[in-house]
Amino acid sequence: MYDMAELSCGLMLDEKAKYMMGVGKPQDLVECIARGVDMFDCVLPTRNGRNGQCLTMQGTLTIRNARYAKDLRPIDEECGCYTCRKYTRAYIRHLVKSNEMLAARLCTYHNLWTYLRLVKGARAAIIDGRFAAWRRATMDRLAIGWD
Ligand SMILES: [Zn+2]
Repeated sequence: MYDMAELSCGLMLDEKAKYMMGVGKPQDLVECIARGVDMFDCVLPTRNGRNGQCLTMQGTLTIRNARYAKDLRPIDEECGCYTCRKYTRAYIRHLVKSNEMLAARLCTYHNLWTYLRLVKGARAAIIDGRFAAWRRATMDRLAIGWD
């Protein structure tokens, strides 16, 4: 995929926006941005959110797991989204276990916020001319908790 992204972007005009459909995990976005992709769309943050899988820069967190039953921390302590500011892992887990639709909404909101934070970071790094360093640091972080 990375080789094809690089090949395809190399064949397109620099001034034209490059769109990639169906990608992907945060590390895939970072690597495809490095190869010239400008825009993505993917079901991963919303589909996984609906199923109670929360995506963070530290990896994935399956909120229905029993280990979160009494966890009063937010999904991601580094996140400033509405879900993380207002709700604990324990409460969201309770919502998931009770089949409350609010759980899907809260997890989806958090996941979209995480992706937005990621691409905002990439954009700022590109504008500031420090994308290579940002890419290395971000990929190092993502290598820990993701499969
Ligand atoms: Zn959040």
